[in-house]
Amino acid sequence: MPTGSIPGNCTFEPRHGAPARAGERRVLNRQLLFDAIERLASPATGEGALLIVRMRNLHDYEAMFGYEAGDALVLAFEARLRECLRSVDVAVRIGECDFAVVLPGLADRNHVSLAAAKVSRTFQEPLQVRNRPAWTNVAVGACAVADAGTPTLLCRQADVACRRAWELRERHFLHAGLSSTLVGYEELQAAITGNQMQLFLQPVFSMQDGELKSFESLSRWVHPVHGQIRPAVFVPMAEQAGLIHELTRWNLNATFRHCSPFIEAHPGIKCAVNISPVALTAPGFVEQMASAFRLWKIAPGSVVLEITETAFVDNQEQLVEALSALHAVGVGISIDDFGTGYSSLSYIRRFAVDELKIDMSFVHDLAGSARARRLVAWMIQMAHGMGAIAVAEGIEDAETWARLGEMGCDHGQGYYPGRPQPAEEALALLASAS
Ligand code: C2E
Ligand code: CA
Ligand code: CA
Repeated sequence: MPTGSIPGNCTFEPRHGAPARAGERRVLNRQLLFDAIERLASPATGEGALLIVRMRNLHDYEAMFGYEAGDALVLAFEARLRECLRSVDVAVRIGECDFAVVLPGLADRNHVSLAAAKVSRTFQEPLQVRNRPAWTNVAVGACAVADAGTPTLLCRQADVACRRAWELRERHFLHAGLSSTLVGYEELQAAITGNQMQLFLQPVFSMQDGELKSFESLSRWVHPVHGQIRPAVFVPMAEQAGLIHELTRWNLNATFRHCSPFIEAHPGIKCAVNISPVALTAPGFVEQMASAFRLWKIAPGSVVLEITETAFVDNQEQLVEALSALHAVGVGISIDDFGTGYSSLSYIRRFAVDELKIDMSFVHDLAGSARARRLVAWMIQMAHGMGAIAVAEGIEDAETWARLGEMGCDHGQGYYPGRPQPAEEALALLASAS
């Protein structure tokens, strides 16, 4: 359905016209956006939301096909966006590759999240540009009016969410009403030292016989006012504020303290920790790990480090050095979010990877997309070809579990086989089941 017809619900001139006009139009469109927010999603009513929809690959496309084709791509993009909106929604182009969409009437965060998911899904199919299919790479950020005090803050929060979606390689991300603009760095520091962090564990099972294989440790910040805050908010904050080393120390100690007795009682079970590349490449990290192993009497061979594939883009040398040293003493190395990193894979030649963790976006697409199935099959083969195991994350239903098992995936993790739970509860449950 087409969108509502406010006069400014319009597209820019082609971007390669006179710069002054484009600049004026940009200001005009921003004003139209603010007017639409005031009319349709006013913080006074507490209802409504804003999406920022960003096409990330326009410049690559232009480099390949030229500026005019780029303009045609943007027009096709806008048309597709408008097709998937309700008639009451208002879309305004606010930047070269950016659209803002005002969604009136949505009060519930779940509905906002669904709307963002719908928009991101609509771009999974290629656009048609000059009789050629054109794939777009889209990130959608969402923020509910209820989570932002003013129209300006609403725009900022939705923009931050859009960037976060990109960083997390999620297609869409809902601003949960919290960010470094609302929660201070000092608070995070106090939380790490003052017992506000909580350790969650999520089990990982063999897909062939259902046996428990490992736990992944996931941190939560239990904030006295805002409640549970996810790592997507506080890990980047910690990295920026130089607190990542303290957070890593807390996480390693908490994980080993909980898991060490369980592993002693159930030999062969491992624990996996997520390590930020900022922490991993800091001087002294390898020694820090060694002293944590000694302190908690845990064998390095019982520990797996999960490093996101994107980490290798900037830090190959230092990462490879630290990972090689740890691998040499028996620590397992897992490449997290595999398939999303755009890295050169050359790290695979430099040290032995033990595990490829297939990103959950591929797992979620399995049922509906033959392309995702082919990619996952290829990733499983690739893992086996290099002597590693393939682990699928984000398995949310029995059908996906069964399908991945048939495809030869080794281990599986997700809400279907077991949700992340507070460490004590997770371990008590598993101890009673084993
Ligand atoms: P990750 O390593 O990819 O971890 C999996 C994330 O997916 C977790 O989110 C988990 O709660 C969630 N998840 C698990 N099963 C499912 C499922 O079936 N469906 C869906 N939709 N989600 C599922 P969480 O806990 O919010 O963690 C987000 C990311 O933050 C993690 O992504 C990890 O990279 C990072 N992280 C978590 N704890 C720490 C930490 O202590 N230090 C560092 N550096 N990073 C951490
Ligand atoms: Ca992980
Ligand atoms: Ca992951």
